[in-house]
Amino acid sequence: MEKRFVYADNSATTRVSQHALEAALPYFTENYGNASSIYALGMNAARALEKARGQVAAALGAKPNEIFFTSGGSESDNWAIKGCAENGEKKGKKHIITSVFEHHAVLHTCQYLEKHGFEVTYIPVDEKGLINPEDVKNAIRDDTCLVTIIFANNEIGTIQPIAEIGAICREKKVLFHTDAVQAVGNVEIDVSKMNIDLLSLSGHKIHAPKGCGALYIRSGITLPNLIHGGAQERTKRAGTENVPSIVALGVAITDACADIPAKREKVSKMRDRLIDGLLKINETRLNGDREKRLCGNVNVSIRGVEGESLLLNLDLNGICASSGSACTSGSLDPSHVLLSIGLPHEIAHGSLRLSINEETTDEDIDYILEVVPKVVKKLREMSPLWERICKEENITRTI
Ligand SMILES: *Cc1c(COP(=O)(O)O)cnc(C)c1O
Repeated sequence: MEKRFVYADNSATTRVSQHALEAALPYFTENYGNASSIYALGMNAARALEKARGQVAAALGAKPNEIFFTSGGSESDNWAIKGCAENGEKKGKKHIITSVFEHHAVLHTCQYLEKHGFEVTYIPVDEKGLINPEDVKNAIRDDTCLVTIIFANNEIGTIQPIAEIGAICREKKVLFHTDAVQAVGNVEIDVSKMNIDLLSLSGHKIHAPKGCGALYIRSGITLPNLIHGGAQERTKRAGTENVPSIVALGVAITDACADIPAKREKVSKMRDRLIDGLLKINETRLNGDREKRLCGNVNVSIRGVEGESLLLNLDLNGICASSGSACTSGSLDPSHVLLSIGLPHEIAHGSLRLSINEETTDEDIDYILEVVPKVVKKLREMSPLWERICKEENITRTI
């Protein structure tokens, strides 16, 4: 088969869509005004911001005044968690509940708060990567100020029972935040039905530019500022607004949420073919739940290969993929997500994440399924580890 370029790392970032790009362009060139200025050029920018705010709100079942633009998913997570912590502290509530397999934007923020006198309960996940809502219920205490649980995991794609957790938090009168960066556009979200109080999203995971995102804050909740300065975002988030990116975010989120069921059907078909094909490689396992899974996420562990070598060899063949999450690459520790579902270090090291989307084609899937087994065969042939595994466990070396 001819060499192709296949981008299968959409959980790391996505291409900016033509539609979002075209919507943004005039705000770089003609309508470059500052949205806080009173002349027409500024007002054009301000109007564009409000239009985008309405689009983001509509995608979540929220009201426009509940949407605050930020620099992305990480800032939104920081703001939500630190803000609720500060509010909680004033009432003597210094306990936070999260899960063991959050994105680092949540995990490291919680660890930071632990250093500042907060207590954090890390809810475990089962071997499929799912949280039991009962565990959240049992962890809630009188001094709990926040529950923060990732909507869909960025590495293994598992989708959590967010509505159930939301109902529990509402009943117990504890604020509930979710990092929905990976879920937006893949799962239908309704913040009121799901009893979500705060929700983080990011532009660059849904075909808008990097460096822009939003935090939904349910009306009635007032968070202290994370960024102090001017009166932008109704005084709650200072800094001249990134108007072109915000305009793109409004367009991109509308497109992403326009027909989720159709996208899910199309993409999950390709995903399932990819999973089935990869599992034909012997001593390979799927990470994460087969059903409660993002339509574009594939994560497998292939014994006897090393994730980094696999990625380099896939790159030589034109395939962009990831091992664990992009943020963890460059570190020798296996991903905390893979360890949290009980994988031993050795197996976690040989993991491969392919994240496809609606731009992926059947030919791309064919190509991946042709290249990966070849690369695995080559790497295993050179691997003393694989040789030892085969001897010790009496595995017939097919691939
Ligand atoms: C990418 C990602 C983030 C970080 O978003 P940025 O916009 O890159 O800061 C946070 N949470 C999850 C689940 C993500 O996938």
